[in-house]
Amino acid sequence: MNSESSLRADIVEIGRRLYARVYTASNDGNISVRLGSDRLLMTPKSVCKGFMTPDMMCVTDLDGRKLQGDRDPSSEMLMHLEVYRQRPDVQAVVHAHPPIATGFAVAGIPLDRAVLAEVLTTLGSIPIAEYATPSTKELPDAVRKYIKAHDGMLLANHGALTVGGDLYAAYYKMETIEHFAKISLVARLLGRENLIAREEVDRLQGLRGTYGIKAPAPICADPSEALAVLDAGDPAMCQVVQAPAGGGQRLVPAVLRQPGAGDAAPKPSAEGEEIRLTYRELSALIEDAIRNLR
Ligand SMILES: [Zn+2]
Repeated sequence: MNSESSLRADIVEIGRRLYARVYTASNDGNISVRLGSDRLLMTPKSVCKGFMTPDMMCVTDLDGRKLQGDRDPSSEMLMHLEVYRQRPDVQAVVHAHPPIATGFAVAGIPLDRAVLAEVLTTLGSIPIAEYATPSTKELPDAVRKYIKAHDGMLLANHGALTVGGDLYAAYYKMETIEHFAKISLVARLLGRENLIAREEVDRLQGLRGTYGIKAPAPICADPSEALAVLDAGDPAMCQVVQAPAGGGQRLVPAVLRQPGAGDAAPKPSAEGEEIRLTYRELSALIEDAIRNLR
C-alpha cells in the first residue's frame, strides 16, 4: 500500500491537517518520507501546506539531489537529510510551528517534566535543540544532538520536529507535543503541577515493551548526569525526565509561582536563578521558620 502515489496523497492530507490545526501558517513547515532505500519524497519550498496537490512533491536522493519534480525541495531539506542519516529506523519526518509548543521553545522551557503517563511511555521527554538559523547547516547540527534519543523535539525560537515509522506516526507525535504543551501551560497557569514520581516513571517505562512502543532511548536514570553530558556538547543517549523521588507517593505535589503573584513570587537568587521547591520542601522550610520564631 506504500506506493509512491499513496505516499504523495498522505503528505497532502497531513499538510492539510497541519494547516487546519494552525500548526503552520502561510508556507511554514515541511514533510518528508522515505521512498524505498535510496530516495525521499518531500514537500516543495514556498507552498502553503494546506493547499498542496500530489504532483507538487519532490523526489530527492539521500544527499538532497533533486531527481524529480517541477519545484525545489523544502528549504529545511538539510534537517530532514540529517534525521534520515542518524536514524535508519525513521521513515518519515514532520516539521511545523505549533504555537503553544513553539511558545515553550521561545521561553527556553523543555517539555521534560513527568506530568502525563502516556507521554512518558511514548515520547519520553521533549528537549529543545539549540537555536540555529533556519534552512542553514546550523539546524541539522543542532538536531543531531538529540535525534538519536528522541522522536520529537522543540527547536529553540522556531518550532518542533517529529519523526516516525510512517508519515502518520510522525504527524501524531506532532499532535502529542502540542497537546502536551497545552496541558502543561494550563497546569502552570493554575499554579500547581503535580509530578509523577520517579518510581512510577520507572514503572511506566517498563510498560513500553508491553505496549510494543519502540522508544529510541531509555529514560535517563540520573537526569543531572545526563544534562552534564549534554552541557559538554555530547549527543543525548537517554531521555531526561524531571521526576522527583516519591517516597511511596505516586504523585508529588509541586506549587508553581502564580502569574502576577507579586511579592509572593520567589525572588531570583544572587546568580539570577529561580529556586523551585517541591511542596514538601516548602512545608519543611515554613515549619522550620515557625519553630525559630518560637
Ligand atoms: Zn520552520
